[in-house]
Amino acid sequence: MHRSIIRPEIQDFKPYSPGLSIEEIKERYNLPTVIKMASNENPLGTSPLVQRVIKKQAGFSFRYPRPGSPELTKAIAQRYNLPQQDIVLGNGSDEIIDLLIRVTAHPDKDNIIICQPSFSIYRMQARLCGVELRKVPLNNDFSFPWSDLLKSSDEQTKLVFVTNPDNPSGHAAHVQDILAFASQLPQNCLLVLDEAYMEFADPQDEFSPLPQWSKTENIVCLRTFSKMYGLAGLRLGYGLMPPWLSEALLKVKLPFSVNILAEQAGIASLEDKEFSQLVFETIKHERTYLKKELARLNCTTFPSQANFLMFRPPIPAKQVFERLLAQGIIIRPLDSYGLSDFIRVSIGNENENRVFIKAMESIIC
Ligand SMILES: *Cc1c(COP(=O)(O)O)cnc(C)c1O
Repeated sequence: MHRSIIRPEIQDFKPYSPGLSIEEIKERYNLPTVIKMASNENPLGTSPLVQRVIKKQAGFSFRYPRPGSPELTKAIAQRYNLPQQDIVLGNGSDEIIDLLIRVTAHPDKDNIIICQPSFSIYRMQARLCGVELRKVPLNNDFSFPWSDLLKSSDEQTKLVFVTNPDNPSGHAAHVQDILAFASQLPQNCLLVLDEAYMEFADPQDEFSPLPQWSKTENIVCLRTFSKMYGLAGLRLGYGLMPPWLSEALLKVKLPFSVNILAEQAGIASLEDKEFSQLVFETIKHERTYLKKELARLNCTTFPSQANFLMFRPPIPAKQVFERLLAQGIIIRPLDSYGLSDFIRVSIGNENENRVFIKAMESIIC
């Protein structure tokens, strides 16, 4: 037996490049505390109500979950006034991205379109499926290149991925532009709107088609519990899509990919409106603070509707990244997005952001 049995496209597969971990950096620099502002996690942690529910549910861990997570599906449908049949829950929205590609695109025949740069999971799952990937560069101001996306599409295009608000720039497109774009796509092509950060946009209705969901036809919306709801480690996300498509995804999805604790935590996190309101207000306030302070330090910042900021520092980004690390602060360099002059910093809590700015002052001034 030999590694030649592995498919060639997997032999040179570029894996996901995650943010560095706190433990790794504590060890490397022998530091007692490390701040992580690299993976857009929730700076207020997990809601106390959710933590109580998880503890209470621990004893049911020996049970298999119900396929399709009907209790949580119902809670989401009620919360957003959506038909239950349109919802597919997954092990993070990553699982829904993977399923969408595998269910719609024929290997060696169909293509999918992504923006360049964009979230790497779209590229990875398309490659794994042997589906042609068409990359369309973003506009210089990081807005979406609507007419170039249309020009790249043809009868074999099954999916166009657009992240709104976008990662890593934070740019958000207006819903009118999105609906106009969707209406011009080829007949058998779906627009996949990855709204992982939409709960941070202000106001959401200006950017998301969710309030007018019943009027959309060829749109899939992806949402996650990883960011606003602070459940990144439990793995929970969902897709909203026409019922003929959700039916297909549910047929092939591994039945127990959403576990019992994640389902109950999801329900509780939708109930804890006080917590999500506090997260929203904190992010909004702290994003303004960071933007102002970074501008004072001669960094070029970009408008963001998400829980992170992208900026270009006045000295090489790699230097900033390494010096912050040595001070126990992890941020995200953007080499893997092809943006090596830029940095993405997740909005932290009040204390984290002040520690970060102080460190930036010592590095840049
Ligand atoms: C964080 C993120 C997600 C969420 O992924 P999960 O699998 O739900 O944790 C999806 N899309 C983008 C662009 C993201 O940044």
